Amino acid sequence: MTIRTLEPRSTEVGGVPIARLLPNKGKQPIGAWCFLDHAGPAEFAQDDLGVQVGRHPHTNLQTFSWMIDGEILHKDSLGSEQVIAKNQVNLMTAGTGLNQGISHTEQSVFAEQSDQHKTDSSAAHRHINMIQLWIALPTNQQIERSFHHYPELPTWTEGNVELILTTGSYQSVSGKLYKAPTLQYSKLVGIDVHFLEDGDVTLNLEASFEYGILVVVGALESEGQVYKKDQLLRFHRTDVSNDTTITLVAKKGTRLMFIGGEPLSNQVLLWWNFVANNKEELEQSVIDWNNGHERFSEVDSDMQRLVAPEVPKGFKG
Ligand code: MN
Repeated sequence: MTIRTLEPRSTEVGGVPIARLLPNKGKQPIGAWCFLDHAGPAEFAQDDLGVQVGRHPHTNLQTFSWMIDGEILHKDSLGSEQVIAKNQVNLMTAGTGLNQGISHTEQSVFAEQSDQHKTDSSAAHRHINMIQLWIALPTNQQIERSFHHYPELPTWTEGNVELILTTGSYQSVSGKLYKAPTLQYSKLVGIDVHFLEDGDVTLNLEASFEYGILVVVGALESEGQVYKKDQLLRFHRTDVSNDTTITLVAKKGTRLMFIGGEPLSNQVLLWWNFVANNKEELEQSVIDWNNGHERFSEVDSDMQRLVAPEVPKGFKG
């Protein structure tokens, strides 16, 4: 049994606490999941603007936003303008290669601005709790840029636990098959696991997948260990005692993000907001963004345009 526990690196962006779990030691993605931030929970004062992330680009990846609480307005260079609310996924695909790329902004939306941006919720939202993941794209495929919003996802309960399938397909231990509509370019799964009461749940594991479980709220007990908020369990099916399933035990209110996927065949290098399979492409993307190359187009926004830092000389990824 060799479940590894990855510790968060903590930072803060505009008053919002960020726990970064990926990349982490060894820098290896979990399947194609190559970046994982837990933003919040945070409360904003009346005069606070909340999350304000200016114009910035991405390459060779999908940004995958999973909202636990609060609302964020996404705007991108394809002209997309979409509020993401609780229990919804926003998925932005940057495309692959030096002819593709995308740019976007993210900002908090509060109740008083909601009418303007067609928010789903009438409650006041002066808080945020969200998971931001990146999915590395397989660079041997020609993938076009796109944006998708998924407000409806397969949701079911097992005992005292509510599960939401945010991406991929999943067969429960009772044999029921669930399929999420979320666009994928490699085999992936993402399940939000919410303990409505004290209890346990057993999840099926696939032999070809690498897995991670983030403790988002509360604490988790599994395989004889206790895991705290913002710790990430990292494992393979052969690392758990049963070899085909993992059992998760937690108290009421605990919330987990269960992710998994098949590793990509290409190298995954990260620099700033860019992913590529080689250093030269990262360097070219820095030049292209900082020179306003049309591959990243423009976001219709007066928010700050972020500057890409140069790739360091000795960069190995
Ligand atoms: Mn981004």
